[in-house]
Amino acid sequence: MRRNTLMIDADDTLWENNVFFENLIEDFISLVEPCGYARAYIRHILNETERKNIRQYGYGVRCFGRSLEETYLKLAEHAAKRETLALIHGRVVDLERTPPKILDGVPETLAYLTQRHRLILFTKGEPAEQAAKVERSGLQGFFEFIEIVPEKDHETYGALVKKHKIVKSLGWMIGNSPRSDINPAMRIGLNAVYVPHQHTWQLEHEPVLAGAGKLIIVPAFRELREHF
Ligand SMILES: [Mg+2]
Repeated sequence: MRRNTLMIDADDTLWENNVFFENLIEDFISLVEPCGYARAYIRHILNETERKNIRQYGYGVRCFGRSLEETYLKLAEHAAKRETLALIHGRVVDLERTPPKILDGVPETLAYLTQRHRLILFTKGEPAEQAAKVERSGLQGFFEFIEIVPEKDHETYGALVKKHKIVKSLGWMIGNSPRSDINPAMRIGLNAVYVPHQHTWQLEHEPVLAGAGKLIIVPAFRELREHF
């Protein structure tokens, strides 16, 4: 097979990420529920607050913590308690320290792929936080480059292609998010491999769009061996 350039997402592709946030959100909703709101409504307000804050502050645990605190203050109003805010803050600090849980089959599959292809880790988020996760994962040695950007859209994909002189017909983006991995990559003519994850973040949901390149869907990361 020709040597391809494989751009590989990190969160919920190489390691669990969103499930830790989801667990915290469930606990958060239970904290706020006694203020008299339905769980779905609390989640809706939290999602709206996150969208607003991401535009202003970018992705990352700290921005998430800010969104939880703002949502709590908005919904609890005058009944807001300092202890509850401290509790929320403590949970966010714990989340930030949670070591990455590598997904099944990932290290051996990367070891196989890196012998045959050029691998670039392509992730979005707060640079120091993502770099620390990559470091703790122990997977950085499989990649020729680690690229961390504030947002994965067709413009950042275009810049990546240019910077690393990627031949589009031999370039593949591999990840769990239609919005950040599959659709923007295919929009600029790259190929893509969609590896769905059951806990993909709600803000990443989007229908998968067809593009000029090839699209492969695999049920698990280890199945990349069958294609590359
Ligand atoms: Mg991801």
